Amino acid sequence: MNSRPSALITGANKGIGFSIAKGLGELGYQVWVGSRDAIRGRLAVEELETAGIDARLLMLDVTDRSSVEAAAAFMRRHVDGLDVLVNNAGIILGASEPPSEQSMQELKAVYEVNVFGAVRVTQAFLRLLKSAPGARIVMMSSGLGSLGLVTDPDSIYFTANLLAYNSSKTALNAISVAFAKELKPFGIKVNAVEPGSVATDLNGYSGVLTPDQGAVSAIRMATIGRDGPTGGFFGNEGPQPW
Ligand code: NAP
Repeated sequence: MNSRPSALITGANKGIGFSIAKGLGELGYQVWVGSRDAIRGRLAVEELETAGIDARLLMLDVTDRSSVEAAAAFMRRHVDGLDVLVNNAGIILGASEPPSEQSMQELKAVYEVNVFGAVRVTQAFLRLLKSAPGARIVMMSSGLGSLGLVTDPDSIYFTANLLAYNSSKTALNAISVAFAKELKPFGIKVNAVEPGSVATDLNGYSGVLTPDQGAVSAIRMATIGRDGPTGGFFGNEGPQPW
């Protein structure tokens, strides 16, 4: 078994998830790179290892129950506990469609990753999280999931009216609060984070921040001390409106 604290990041083969893995690895965590694709995952692990990080590949498709359960069983054989879980995997579909035209099929597909995926992974890894001394769970939300920001005409999030994506992140915020309440007695802190507008594949590189900049709030919430918050929603600059 490993003496380093361990961190699992879903969707860590690229983008913000990769930067979170790199940042936590640099802080001394053994990082488990969740990836649904073996080749993309292996390349990410190799890049992290080249940077001197203790990185492991964990095959994990958050939409697939048997994949998630197999990943949890695999990890249980290699670590005593899981100190950090970052539910980062996420997708956007139909970004240019008005809400009245988005199909139920797309809506369900987005929820399957962004909402049900995060719940599925959290539930499957709970035994390992409870075995760590004070685990941290981070839900990768978005400013677009904030009802406060998307209804504020002065916010950069006012105009992007994505039915599936925005509402999936609003649901994820509610899910974060629900897990935070249940897990508080176990010393597990659960917070949602918003990375800012980050240039990645997700948005065709239209964001303004680098993935490393977008990883800051997630890394902060993954490593908060015993006096830190739980059940909150945070960006790089601090608390965000729900
Ligand atoms: P990205 O570069 O497209 O990365 C998304 C990651 O999720 C990839 O590793 C992808 O894997 C993975 N993924 C997708 N579906 C998956 C599944 N079913 N199972 C496992 N992994 C899956 O996008 P990103 O911008 O870094 O996004 C990361 C998170 O930040 C998302 O939750 C996103 O909603 C959130 N976010 C991003 C921004 C932004 O400005 N970019 C803003 C707010 C929030 P593959 O390589 O296999 O597709």
